[in-house]
Amino acid sequence: MKKLLASLAMASVVGVTAPSAMANEQTFLTVGTGGQTGVYYQVGQSVCRFVNRDHQDLRCNAPSTGGSIANVNGMIGGEYDMGVVQSDVQYKALTGAAPFESANTELKALFSLYPEPFTILARADADIRNFDDMYGKRVNIGNPGSGQRDTMETVLNAKGKSVDDFGVTLELQAQEMAAALSDNKVDAIAYTVGHPNGSIQEATTTTDARLVNVDGPAIEKLIADNSFYAEVIIPGGMYRGNDEDTVTFGSLATFVAGPEMSEDVAYKVVSSVFENFDRFKRLHPAFANLNPEAMIQDGLSMELHPGAVKYYREQGWM
Ligand code: GLU
Repeated sequence: MKKLLASLAMASVVGVTAPSAMANEQTFLTVGTGGQTGVYYQVGQSVCRFVNRDHQDLRCNAPSTGGSIANVNGMIGGEYDMGVVQSDVQYKALTGAAPFESANTELKALFSLYPEPFTILARADADIRNFDDMYGKRVNIGNPGSGQRDTMETVLNAKGKSVDDFGVTLELQAQEMAAALSDNKVDAIAYTVGHPNGSIQEATTTTDARLVNVDGPAIEKLIADNSFYAEVIIPGGMYRGNDEDTVTFGSLATFVAGPEMSEDVAYKVVSSVFENFDRFKRLHPAFANLNPEAMIQDGLSMELHPGAVKYYREQGWM
């Protein structure tokens, strides 16, 4: 957390002395999100909006980032104070499983959010009906640092395959994927993301594209072996040309605090979310069905931050 005496900094710029400067110490908070066409970016913007409105001593901003893995690494490195992280990535970060090199017990959970299905969208002319039809084809596997790249590796491992089984692989950022699909630079894109989201909306409106099932024995085993995965349905009718349900699997989006977060700041952040909860839920359709009891429990392998626990106890939620 970067602390700055805001009035003093301002005073030195304009060359005057601000007598009340000492009263205005502000803590600057940066939230690691994802691409601007995903939902993490909306999560970060929404949380910061309420934090900044409720707490004059906190100044929260939520820039676009590479995604879950980049957010964990950014929190460990001190670049981000908080981050949105897939629940499977949260587990890997806690235990030190690949792609992480060691256990990160200093990261703490604040709450979880909505399901993130592993979403494959293929051009209608690419003849891809199921995940396995992508072998030999041109596939965007996601930028390094993104959650979808990690989920893709997980699925390929589970199937005894690797990215070399695709014909061509691209590593485009989330915000570049839809255009690449429409421009016929790839046959399919992968995105672990809440729905509806801007990328899939953009791709399905600018080209004929189909959501692809990711199911079968290897996926069933993955779900059975890992409590943070579940079968997830992307409901039909959400995107143009996709009237049928799509069966896949996924984890949950979660909100995590970095190692430096104080009890006071964690308390203020979670209270801003839950004191404004009805408004928060209206900020994105993926937030509409959230409920606090599930959010303080589901998908959290890291310990809850003590500042969050304090607020949740006061509410009688634990
Ligand atoms: N789940 C993706 C990731 O971890 C991000 C999805 C989003 O931006 O909404 O990178």
